[in-house]
Amino acid sequence: MRALYYHRVVDRRAAGDAYGATAITAAELDAHAAELARNWRVLSLAEVDDHLASSRPLPARAVHLSFDDGYRDNLRAAEIFESHGLPWTLFVVADAVLDGFVPWYVRLAGALSDAPPEALAAHGGAARFKEAAKRAVMAAPADRHLAVLADLLHAAGLPHHTEALWPFLSVDEVDDLRRRGVEIGNHSATHPNLTRCSPAELDQEVAGSQARLEAALGRPVRFFAYPDGRFDRSVVTAVGRTHDIGAATWTASHPLAPLRLRRFPVGPGVGDLLDVLSPRYPARYRARRAKWELRRQVRRVATRPRSHGQHVAG
Ligand SMILES: [Zn+2]
Repeated sequence: MRALYYHRVVDRRAAGDAYGATAITAAELDAHAAELARNWRVLSLAEVDDHLASSRPLPARAVHLSFDDGYRDNLRAAEIFESHGLPWTLFVVADAVLDGFVPWYVRLAGALSDAPPEALAAHGGAARFKEAAKRAVMAAPADRHLAVLADLLHAAGLPHHTEALWPFLSVDEVDDLRRRGVEIGNHSATHPNLTRCSPAELDQEVAGSQARLEAALGRPVRFFAYPDGRFDRSVVTAVGRTHDIGAATWTASHPLAPLRLRRFPVGPGVGDLLDVLSPRYPARYRARRAKWELRRQVRRVATRPRSHGQHVAG
């Protein structure tokens, strides 16, 4: 079985968008859905869970589809998947859909989209600033994520907006999707690095968000997706106590461990989709990712500024 995840549906991808990799156009998603409906066996996460819980083998060419975070543009994904009769899971950031909370990385995306190009050029461009900011935020304790980001933006002279560049679904819209058959999963309360939470924060992010979503939707919420695919033993334990499935990303070593279900992001073309679905993809992805990581580190060392001043990578 291959589990895939998407984030946003857009009209078109802007060239040089530091977040382009997380977006797919409606036309591209429709082409994915047509291929999946024709040639693959798309399962709901409840069906996957049934197979895993009863140790029954999954059918050949099994695929699971999910969207992470809960953006309003996912309503288009719902129409597309519905028109092809495909089940899917929507993992929502609970405080974003329930309270209008804007997670740190959406604030960063907003700042990058508003920043004058000269301001970003001084930091090596949007993509480099984004990577450096992400490293700094993810390394900080969860209760410091927003403050660390605000400090970085301030130091770099970049705008800091707290409204969402990518609006989230309202809870009524999420509930409407649920009625239409979409599986609603929990993607934490605020999308922090869960491995940097205190025990009380972890409980809030995993069990607290689940309770709030269940109260709002009037239904059990059984599935969880780790924000940014980050987990450690205590995070997995917290999720296992409260949820039936913990959906991870490509870093999970086993494809079908229920609390570390391996998922892959997928590029926009049908060729990208077929690539991800090929049996040899996990090994190839790992190798490509390792090469990318190495290149990035070499570049970082080569371009490290002599005076550390306000450089965000410092
Ligand atoms: Zn996410």
